[in-house]
Amino acid sequence: MTKTRLADNPETQKAAPKEKNFTNVLKAFAREHGADLIGVAPIERFAEAPAEHHPAAVFPEAKSVLMLGRRILRGALRGMEEGTNLYDYSSYGYTWLERDFIPLLVYRVTQFIEDRGWEAAPLYPYPVEVTPEGIPVASDRPAPNVTVDFNLAAVAAGLGEIGYAGVFLSPEYGPRQRLGMIVTDAELEPDPLFAGKICGRCNQCVNDCPLGAMSGETTVRIAGRSFAVAKMDYDMCGRCKNGAQPNTFHPEGHADRLGAICMRSCVHQLEKDGKTGGSFKQPFRKRTSWKRDCFGKIVVQGEPLPRVGCFNAGQPVDGGGKR
Ligand code: SF4
Ligand code: SF4
Repeated sequence: MTKTRLADNPETQKAAPKEKNFTNVLKAFAREHGADLIGVAPIERFAEAPAEHHPAAVFPEAKSVLMLGRRILRGALRGMEEGTNLYDYSSYGYTWLERDFIPLLVYRVTQFIEDRGWEAAPLYPYPVEVTPEGIPVASDRPAPNVTVDFNLAAVAAGLGEIGYAGVFLSPEYGPRQRLGMIVTDAELEPDPLFAGKICGRCNQCVNDCPLGAMSGETTVRIAGRSFAVAKMDYDMCGRCKNGAQPNTFHPEGHADRLGAICMRSCVHQLEKDGKTGGSFKQPFRKRTSWKRDCFGKIVVQGEPLPRVGCFNAGQPVDGGGKR
């Protein structure tokens, strides 16, 4: 029996990417399969990325980077916000979302692209701070493993900006999303860079961190844009008992902060300021937030934090953020 090749198949050709609306068809497919955020960056927007973090180092013929996001349900943060159930965020808001729900979406969209004759490389958000774990296979190639910064890629795809806490913010959900990436040789219609402003430098993330992990300032750049962000003491985040989760991929990876008090404060503040979408009937934060020191002891308003054993950049922490 003769096998029909993809290019000979009139059904496939009907939806070939040369059609003007391929990007729209692709986006509609991704949306149907659960994407809350979809953005396209042409590969040129990564010109400032070093080779060890460049998508084209993984796929040299790449023309486009497709970013897909799924929201962290506001309710998945509820038990965390109340301090009464930390497991469900850990599953629905972190590991299942990042390891199951988003990879399934990315896989389906990757199939959709490859069924139309383009190659599509699905990438996972491995921590960019982990040092390469191999030797280069050729003098002109970076060592494995190349990792791409998904936060910056989302900015390049026009989905939002980097907030002062150093976390990607979208106008739909603020910090409440996780991301998937597909690098393809299909020339997709690019999305414009996000032109608005989400982070209003309210400093709630800094003030609400009980361990004083954010201080000073630095800059991150992508696609010709730069963002001022707080310098982070990630050792503190690794010891944080306020909703931060250990990096599930690598022990050297930074702790996940999206469920921690710093970012829950950001969710609340952005909603309060009308910066993020959604029409919830009740505010996110309804009670004074709970806080714990780096030993797990409850921080009581007005009482000093312990000075011994809790270090911030080599200095004993005396209170860190505000109580
Ligand atoms: S809490 Fe305020 S300053 Fe911090 S990232 Fe969110 S909006 Fe920006
Ligand atoms: S994760 Fe914890 S230690 Fe790190 S910035 Fe947020 S609240 Fe502070």
